[in-house]
Amino acid sequence: MIELQNVTKTYLKGVQALTNINLKIEKEDFIFLVGPSGAGKSTFIKLLLKEEDPTEGNIIINGQDVTKISRRKIPYHRRSIGVVFQDFRLLPNKTVYENVAFAMQIIEASSKEIRRQVPMVLGMVGLSDKASSYPHQLSGGERQRVSIARAIVNNPSILIADEPTGNLDPETAWEIMKVLKQINRRGTTVVMATHARDIVDVMQQRVIALEKGRVVRDQQRGAYDYEG
Ligand code: ADP
Ligand code: ADP
Repeated sequence: MIELQNVTKTYLKGVQALTNINLKIEKEDFIFLVGPSGAGKSTFIKLLLKEEDPTEGNIIINGQDVTKISRRKIPYHRRSIGVVFQDFRLLPNKTVYENVAFAMQIIEASSKEIRRQVPMVLGMVGLSDKASSYPHQLSGGERQRVSIARAIVNNPSILIADEPTGNLDPETAWEIMKVLKQINRRGTTVVMATHARDIVDVMQQRVIALEKGRVVRDQQRGAYDYEG
């Protein structure tokens, strides 16, 4: 469902951030994208979102070559991907409910759909009782669960999580991982860039390791570092 074919990304000034990447990511995959700072993880994510285009190669997502879609159709492409960030990026003057509903208003969902869908996803992330709270009234883990609810409320086929546990204590980080794994089990592909070694080692999911813009390892049940 995601396929990268001979993908190379060279930024202006000649920085080669990704070099000849060939990958297939299946619908049911939960991917940990690991590698040192500067390895190309953010660039990889930007290419999936079409925030950047590759210098060479093709990126096929849900049967469509995203390097060939017109500017006009980029918003539709982005709707198929939910994104969660390390720093949550919630709207501070909106409640939990409004933050999630806003993502549906942007795509002009009907108020009937919004009234049905928002409570459903708040239930999925365990925040039904916080619907009327504002972000500053929530813990870090709760804020991240709001941002996950917002990311999935429009039923994306792919969820990208960029260091989603980076600002959380270990116990809270595990709660977030359970939510992400549950979303994956319901049929959403998850691509998570992370430096959280312990999480990657315990979860035993597919690990794609980048170094200097190349895939140096792609393991079905991988660890953070290479093990035998
Ligand atoms: P990571 O997310 O793994 O830290 P990045 O994708 O951010 O890696 O960076 C990969 C390489 O591309 C690095 O050498 C970085 O300096 C370079 N890079 C990233 N963004 C840009 C940009 N907009 N212009 C030029 N070079 C960039
Ligand atoms: P499962 O996929 O078996 O239902 P979960 O989704 O609950 O498991 O968690 C995913 C993985 O994370 C499992 O391997 C589980 O053992 C591990 N895990 C969950 N919570 C913790 C925790 N608090 N500390 C360490 N590992 C944990």
